[in-house]
Amino acid sequence: MQRRDRAKGESLPDASIRAMEWIDIGVNLAHESFGADRDAVVARARDAGVAHFVVTGTSVGASREALALARHYDALSPGLMVATAGLHPHHASELDDATLEALTQLAGDPRIVAVGECGLDFYRNLAPHEAQLAAFRAQLELAVRVRKPVFLHERDAHADFLALVREFRPHLVGAVAHCFTGGEAEVEAYLALDLHIGVTGWVCDERRGSALQRAVPLIPGDRLMLETDAPYLMPRTLSPKPATRRNEPAWVVEVARIVARLRGETLADVAAHSSATTRAFFGITPGRSR
Ligand SMILES: [Zn+2]
Repeated sequence: MQRRDRAKGESLPDASIRAMEWIDIGVNLAHESFGADRDAVVARARDAGVAHFVVTGTSVGASREALALARHYDALSPGLMVATAGLHPHHASELDDATLEALTQLAGDPRIVAVGECGLDFYRNLAPHEAQLAAFRAQLELAVRVRKPVFLHERDAHADFLALVREFRPHLVGAVAHCFTGGEAEVEAYLALDLHIGVTGWVCDERRGSALQRAVPLIPGDRLMLETDAPYLMPRTLSPKPATRRNEPAWVVEVARIVARLRGETLADVAAHSSATTRAFFGITPGRSR
C-alpha cells in the first residue's frame, strides 16, 4: 500500500514511514481507557515507528502509575518509556506537604524526565486560581531543585503563566509548553523565554486549530516536539475516520503529517529534527529502542 506524503506530494510506501523514528512526548497511557488493551496500543504505536513514549503524570497516583508503566515496558525494550511526575492544574488543590514529598521522591527517579504536567488552566477552572498558582510555583521550585525540565500546561491563563515562567526560567534546565494551542504571538513569547513547544492533533482541527496552523512554521526545528495527548485530541484529519473516539500514540504520525505540510518539510525531515530535539531535551538515550 502507498501513502501520500502530503508535505511534498511524494508517495511513500508504509515501510519507509515506519522506518522513521517518532517520539510521543505526551501520552496519558495510565488512563483507564487503555486498561483493557494497553499492550496492543503500545504495539501499534511501535509498528508505526514510535520509538519512545513520554508518559504524562497528572497527580501523585497517576505519576506513580506512569513510572510503573515505564518500568514495566522496559521488558519490551530498555528505555522505551519514560514519564513525568506532577500535579495537573486540575489537581492543584491536592498540593500539601505529603504530596510535595511524594513528587520530590518520584522526581528523583531516573525514568522521570520532567516535572509536570504543571501550570495553569483558567478555562476549566477545576481548582481555584490561588491553588493553581501555588501548585505551579511549588513544582517550578521542585524542577529547579532536581535539575529536571518542566512539562507545562496552559489554557486561558497566558499572562499569569508567562509571569511565573519568566520568573523561574533562568533557573530551569528546560521547559516545554505541552499541547500548545496558541498563535503567532504566543509562539514568539514562548520562544523569547527559550521554551520548547509540543504540538498535538489540535493542529489537525480545521475549526479551532487555525491560529496554531499559522504558528507552526515559526517554531524552529530545535524547539518543536510532537505529541498525541492520547486518549484525548484525536486528529480530525485521520482518514478513514477511526471507529473509536479514543486517540492513541500511533497517531502521532498523523500530527507529524500535518505539521510537515504546514512547514513545507518532508515527513523524514520532521521525524529527524523532532526526534533529535526530543532526545536532547529529555535526555533520552540515543539509538533505536525497537
Ligand atoms: Zn495538558
